[in-house]
Amino acid sequence: MMRKTMLGALALSLGLSACTTSPLGRSQLSLFDSSEIDQQGQKAFDEYRKSHKQATGRDGQYVTCIADAIIKTLPEGQGPSKWTVGVYQDEEPNAFALPGGYVVINTGLMKVAKNQDQIATVVGHEMAHVLANHANERTSTQSLTSTGLGVVQSVTGNNALAQLLGAGAQYGVLLPYSRRQESEADLLGLDLMARAGFDPQASIALWQNMASAGGGQPPEWASTHPNSGERSEALKGRMQSALKLSEEARAAGHTPNCGNIKS
Ligand SMILES: [Zn+2]
Repeated sequence: MMRKTMLGALALSLGLSACTTSPLGRSQLSLFDSSEIDQQGQKAFDEYRKSHKQATGRDGQYVTCIADAIIKTLPEGQGPSKWTVGVYQDEEPNAFALPGGYVVINTGLMKVAKNQDQIATVVGHEMAHVLANHANERTSTQSLTSTGLGVVQSVTGNNALAQLLGAGAQYGVLLPYSRRQESEADLLGLDLMARAGFDPQASIALWQNMASAGGGQPPEWASTHPNSGERSEALKGRMQSALKLSEEARAAGHTPNCGNIKS
């Protein structure tokens, strides 16, 4: 705790804006310029696309329909100016997000998520990582931890520190999210899909499907997560307010109907 405070104070003393607040009100360390982090996200996405084939046809249209329904209900001026959401050929049931608004859903996940509301849960979760600037936070904490306070202290002047941090940004966007960030993405994602008129109860069913799919490497959004019981409990704790958001959205005319694409 002491160490973290010192690091924050150090960053502040060097004139960096060290702290931001996540959409759910959590204080975050954010040492990087968001445009730099977004640029690294784009680079990583370009690299990913070289070795992965985008799924065309119904799966792609289905996910685009669901993503569009959520995007159009995002608060004005929040998040990237453009989202890139796609389905890619990979049989592992997984999904991930990169800063700059890139969301990738694997074809393998399309078999585990049984309806539009379950897929909206995944899309909402991934968008939540982007909206909450989790990559900047992860990269910031990782840079300070891996370089160590001693190294930072031995650096003289802002330029050298910027270089040090810049090196961190290049790999930082590919770091796995922390458990706390995963929990936050679950809850924020639940709100996002509910505000678009999807059924938030589907989040519980999706997690059960994922648990029974089992096997192989744990998916991104499960890897650093509490177990399925804890995850369900956290979602249930927010379910009443999410149901209300969904009802209000539907009453206001947000009644997504992407399922017909899938049939
Ligand atoms: Zn996640």
